[in-house]
Amino acid sequence: MSDLTENTGALDTSDGIYFAPLLPWQQSLWSQLTNRVSTSQQSLPHALLAAGMQGMGKRAFVWRLVAWLLCRKRDTHPSGACAECESCQWLRSGTHPSLQVLPLVSMPVSAENISNRETANSSAKDKKSAKTASNSALKIKVDDIRALQPFIYQGGQGMRICVLDHAEQMTVAAANALLKTLEEPQAQVHLFLISDTPAQLLPTIKSRVQQLALQTIEPASAVDYVTQALGSTVNREAVATAAIEQLIQLANGAPLAAIALAQAPWYSKRALWLTTWQALRSGKRSSIAASDYWQTQLSIAEFIQLSELMLLDMRRVCLGLSELQKDISLLAALEAYQPTDSGLEGFATSLQQTKIALQQNVQEKFAYDKLMQELAYL
Ligand SMILES: [Zn+2]
Repeated sequence: MSDLTENTGALDTSDGIYFAPLLPWQQSLWSQLTNRVSTSQQSLPHALLAAGMQGMGKRAFVWRLVAWLLCRKRDTHPSGACAECESCQWLRSGTHPSLQVLPLVSMPVSAENISNRETANSSAKDKKSAKTASNSALKIKVDDIRALQPFIYQGGQGMRICVLDHAEQMTVAAANALLKTLEEPQAQVHLFLISDTPAQLLPTIKSRVQQLALQTIEPASAVDYVTQALGSTVNREAVATAAIEQLIQLANGAPLAAIALAQAPWYSKRALWLTTWQALRSGKRSSIAASDYWQTQLSIAEFIQLSELMLLDMRRVCLGLSELQKDISLLAALEAYQPTDSGLEGFATSLQQTKIALQQNVQEKFAYDKLMQELAYL
């Protein structure tokens, strides 16, 4: 596996993320921030926010920068942490004394140390189902922020760093506790907030953090990066530039999200989805037969993701916009028959309800049967 593909996991939580190659579109921001620290003319801002949609590499950037800031040999390694010094070793093992991460599950550690971390994370351990645990473990609570205070105010030598991932998930009480910390910057202490949906952050928090300029990427450099990362094929088919551009457009311009999309098992089933829809609607195929077939193809969660994309594009065409997917015969299908607004709304609602039902442990087969019945009436 090449360095590029190793670096593509938008949700990569292994320790490799600390030492991964810098993403090309983050080069100037990296130089700007590291020069500030190295030349000591200006210090790094007390609190930084890495915000924006998933797939732009903001977590990759933050963890890389954190590793570099803490690295003992950063003076001789301007382009990234050395990966060898004591500090870098601590990062790998998830035991760095100068780093605090909330929620704890967000801390990237090497595979052999994951079990240690999970044992330490009692809030996750106490929950009944793994799914509930992962959702609740993301939420930063006021006690978590209070528990940070001794670390922040302890003084002493060297830089100390707090990373708050999924910052928008903070409870209001937690956010208020954090505000106090943001208003009293401590020497040598830096806070990094990460958020996929910064619009959900309290304005009082947002106004006290400096946002990293991570959201700009030239379309051409996005195409280059995705092309290189995917190699020459997607699902064993040769990739044309048009296909890459389509992936990037579907991912709202986020390169890592575009790569994840290309690698998603459902992405190659889009034409099949269209065929199924047409066969169901015309009565050539029963919903039970379609359900049985699709259960052998994709998990219900994947089928929902696929359906959401198809629905999005159908809506665009029905509104008179151009379709995003040029590689399947969506237009021809919609020329033959166009769903009504209420039909589209109804199916979108069914998809949402199915997601909720699945969280409540409804059987996949049952959920699939029901969705196929609904799809027949789209
Ligand atoms: Zn190092």
